[in-house]
Amino acid sequence: MTDTNPTVNSAGYEVPPELRQNVAITTLDKIWNMGRRYSVWPMMFGLACCAIEMICTAASRYDLARFGMEVMRPSPRQSDLMIVSGTVTKKMIPQIVRLYNQMPEPKYVLAMGACASGGGPFKEGYNVVSGVDQYVPVDVYVPGCPPTPQALLHGLMKLQEKIDSESITQVRWYGKEDIPAIPVPLLGPDLIDPRDNELIKQETSKKPAAPAAAPAAPAPAAEAAS
Ligand code: SF4
Repeated sequence: MTDTNPTVNSAGYEVPPELRQNVAITTLDKIWNMGRRYSVWPMMFGLACCAIEMICTAASRYDLARFGMEVMRPSPRQSDLMIVSGTVTKKMIPQIVRLYNQMPEPKYVLAMGACASGGGPFKEGYNVVSGVDQYVPVDVYVPGCPPTPQALLHGLMKLQEKIDSESITQVRWYGKEDIPAIPVPLLGPDLIDPRDNELIKQETSKKPAAPAAAPAAPAPAAEAAS
């Protein structure tokens, strides 16, 4: 409605008096995003000490219900958000990637804490992945060791801002192209990313270099004298 004439809307149509307080004009994106930002369902799983802070965030003092996020789902098939809360070990990353693949679109990932974001105090340890973003796409990083519940809430609000910025015409899950699943890493003697298979084949099929020829042995002293 225009300010000058409240009975006429911006398109020039007259609005009947009984509708003047009941009609709102907005965009489809805004309505769509408002519904999604207040109904993000996180997946219920935790990896290490950061998970305790996540549990605390969901309890009554901080109250995730204010954000419509209190329904933590025990199944990836009902979840929109994966909160990676804790140290990501090489043994655990195949399960994390598999769970991510099982989540339906739209889906988001929040890396909670120094460990999930980059390895944390265990970075480059023999059994720890240096950040979950090496395997799954991360939308929000929350720093800290551990992050406080307030920090996690701030990260969740940042996720809501990201959802607000999306447009129904541009999101990947309504596009025509298939969204390929992420190859699940293999845990062997060390972690193997199947996406590196070609490189691994090339490197392991290289023939080892021939050993250098041994220097000729000196003639025995007796033979030399005769
Ligand atoms: S970031 Fe700190 S608190 Fe969180 S899982 Fe790693 S060591 Fe534990």
